[in-house]
Amino acid sequence: MLNELKHIQTEAVGGDIDGSVIKNKIKVSLIIERYTGIYTMDNATSEFTATSRLTEFVHLIFKAMNETGLAQEYINCQPALFRYFDFLDKDQAIAILYGQLLSDDLTGAQFKLISKAISSSNLIDYDQVEKLLAGSLLTKKAALKVLTLDKDWYSVQDIAYLQTWRGESLVQLFQEVVTVKESKGMFSSGKEVWECLCGYSNKLDATACSSCTKDKRGFGSEELKPEAVQKLINRKVAVIEGI
Ligand SMILES: [Zn+2]
Repeated sequence: MLNELKHIQTEAVGGDIDGSVIKNKIKVSLIIERYTGIYTMDNATSEFTATSRLTEFVHLIFKAMNETGLAQEYINCQPALFRYFDFLDKDQAIAILYGQLLSDDLTGAQFKLISKAISSSNLIDYDQVEKLLAGSLLTKKAALKVLTLDKDWYSVQDIAYLQTWRGESLVQLFQEVVTVKESKGMFSSGKEVWECLCGYSNKLDATACSSCTKDKRGFGSEELKPEAVQKLINRKVAVIEGI
């Protein structure tokens, strides 16, 4: 039913402009100008925005993602606004969402919601995954999540790509990110410690940081680990090669 929604016309055709185009452009500019926060937006406006397919709203949507941290109940029930990406063409949604993941200045809330949008709409693109895996620890983690998703169709290129990660090669991308150094504490001076990404110094034999609970590779205990994704890929490749 959602796919039957009429695509809002936004382009001029041969010099003449459809009146509805102008009307919609004005509506869009007013929504953007009056926007003060995701929870002050009424349902009709959020529905219009989500289903609009208008790229003018991209900035507003990513801004809105930062507001979800304020109230837990809104994290649990995903605001209607973020269905925006479901209405875009798949290629366009992929370009926007992965493009944002690869930009440096994302907040944790944005990162979470973008990953969620990719998963829930099954926006799988291995060319983009390759870029994520070449990036920061944060983008590599996003790539792990995408690699757990099942595609509707595997092209020859997709299969060749998955085969490049078989064995242990994916796991090997995730090395320890902590630094081992000598402690400078008054009583523990000279002892070796590992310094976590968060800055806290831990005993050399500690597997997780006493402050932020992340392990030496920068993973929290609840996070998806490379080993789990590696197993999935190895199984998938074995199945594919058996067909
Ligand atoms: Zn830490």
